[in-house]
Amino acid sequence: MSLTVILYFINEIQKYMNTLEKINIGVVGVGHLGQYHVKHLSKISGANLIGVFDSNNKRNNSISKQYNTRIFDSLNSLIQSCDALSIVTPTQYHAEIAEQCIRSNKHVFIEKPITVSLSEADNILRLADNSGVIVQVGHIERLNPALLALDSYTLKPKYIEVQRLAPYTTRGTEVPVVLDLMIHDIDIVLALVKSQVDTIHASGLSIMTDSVDIANARIQFVDGTIANITSSRIAKDKVRKLKAFQNEMYVTIDFLLGLTEVYRVVKNKGPRGLAAVPLNENEGNKQIIYEKPPVNSFDPLRMELSNFIDSIKGKTKPIVSGSDGREALKVAIQIHEMIIKDLH
Ligand code: NAD
Repeated sequence: MSLTVILYFINEIQKYMNTLEKINIGVVGVGHLGQYHVKHLSKISGANLIGVFDSNNKRNNSISKQYNTRIFDSLNSLIQSCDALSIVTPTQYHAEIAEQCIRSNKHVFIEKPITVSLSEADNILRLADNSGVIVQVGHIERLNPALLALDSYTLKPKYIEVQRLAPYTTRGTEVPVVLDLMIHDIDIVLALVKSQVDTIHASGLSIMTDSVDIANARIQFVDGTIANITSSRIAKDKVRKLKAFQNEMYVTIDFLLGLTEVYRVVKNKGPRGLAAVPLNENEGNKQIIYEKPPVNSFDPLRMELSNFIDSIKGKTKPIVSGSDGREALKVAIQIHEMIIKDLH
């Protein structure tokens, strides 16, 4: 056996051994969402939850007691004890904390939005590139089971309509509604449309906060696709719905109910067992068929954190990369700037 072949096998064995090792991970910021990061990371088999750091000691104490994990008295001491960190602080601290982690060569999972400004996001991505660490962003709706239910369909939407409305709460208001809520849908739209953003029209209002609370954006892509997104954080009821229209297919997703529906035009008879609605007689054999693809039941947060751990082990790639987070932020900032220009 040649030396090259032996080295190849050693390398493969090493890669396999790496996948068996647990990733030591800590959580920075254990408020509303951070507590769920702790909960899942304490159960994911490839992860070894090392501990938590929150600037509020009450949160540290309550979460450490609940999940039997260690409290670190400084961010740096947590960073030095981990291979990877999950950053779940308010958005304005993401950039500074992520930079500190990456400078110590630690992988980072950053909750959405990746940062407040584009220059901060660029800095994070540049540092990560230089040190070879993974940056994943918490655009959790990309792992919503109702969206993943469409995996077996070829989606090429020409028009997308999205609504994300939520009752008012002070959490998240440190950033405008576009960076808090709309950015989820911007990320989904950018993932669905395989074209560059061409033009954006946007408008919005400040109602409860000094920032924008209701926003609407119409994004036109170079290939002509249009996405019309509405977000509000002062609605009576929660709504999270997406409709996408394409040649001979229309899909609706209710992210809250976990309901996905597809209407497709088929020639000749629809597949057996599907409700087939014939068009009028002049349409020949064309029919509209209705399908309700099965929506799996799993926790998207658990899935994205498992995806992060597996990506660190080299088994897969992050479903939402740092650059995806940066692209969604770029469009969100453009929309927000357009709105505030009109407001003043
Ligand atoms: P939160 O206010 O409930 O919790 C934030 C926690 O961070 C608090 O316990 C606070 O004490 C702590 N903290 C603040 N500054 C810190 C610092 N410098 N170092 C360490 N700890 C610090 O906020 P939240 O609702 O949990 O949101 C946190 C992040 O998660 C935000 O970026 C938000 O946009 C994001 N988020 C994402 C989703 C999603 O759907 N993916 C949903 C909610 C929130």
